[in-house]
Amino acid sequence: MDKFKPIPLPNPKQTFVKWNPKKSVEIDPTVNNTESQQVATNNELTPISEIIRNRLRDAGHRYWASDNISEFISDEDKELLVDELTERFEDVLDSLIIDRHTDPNSQGTARRLAKMYIWEIMKGRYELAPVCTSFPNDSENRYDGMLVVRSEIRSMCSHHHQPVSGVAYIGILAANKLIGLSKYTRLAQWCARRGTLQEELCTDIANVIMKATGSENVGVYIQATHWCCENRGIMAHSSLTQTTVLNGSFRSDPAVKKEFTDNIKLQQDFAPR
Ligand SMILES: [Zn+2]
Repeated sequence: MDKFKPIPLPNPKQTFVKWNPKKSVEIDPTVNNTESQQVATNNELTPISEIIRNRLRDAGHRYWASDNISEFISDEDKELLVDELTERFEDVLDSLIIDRHTDPNSQGTARRLAKMYIWEIMKGRYELAPVCTSFPNDSENRYDGMLVVRSEIRSMCSHHHQPVSGVAYIGILAANKLIGLSKYTRLAQWCARRGTLQEELCTDIANVIMKATGSENVGVYIQATHWCCENRGIMAHSSLTQTTVLNGSFRSDPAVKKEFTDNIKLQQDFAPR
């Protein structure tokens, strides 16, 4: 499935139901009417997340932590998701036995968490791909050498929702079009700002760079630290994870591969991680 294929967003006026979980239903304890109350509640109170999940299921679109689902969510939906998530995080804080009502440091934490997930640490799931204007590279003095861009990335592991922090080195042999240098990093960050595994993130970045540039010759090397290894579990403070994806001549031509790794070392001399 091509996950970049645009799918029209359903008319929000037809499908949108504002969620109000605080709206209570009067209960008459003398009458056993639980089922009818439940039906009434479900009709009135459809969470926006359920509406979006239904759109995704209807379209057969996967919605794993690393998937971009922006084509199914409007900006208005995102605001409603923040409202819904705030309620959910309040429940989490309550279950952690944290007094979010009188502890001044915990007041507002649920909403801060909700906004952080939607607008920051997972925004690569909910935002469309960065627009990458391409420029022709087909004149007689075209550039046909290697380009290596160092891109700082921040991500989050799908397993523990802990930060992943590192650098992606993106190597490319220029094809018939070029994109702006900053776009390599914008695309890498768009892929990274989701729930990911570093191995899959490396492949995702290579794929979007190939799509944006039209080049089949792309290599991506990521080195990153994982807080799920540093802040919990094995508590390994100096751990470093390296992953490499090589496509086209980066894989088949040892000289291209060597030039890529030599350039990474030069980049690291210039700007140690
Ligand atoms: Zn983890």
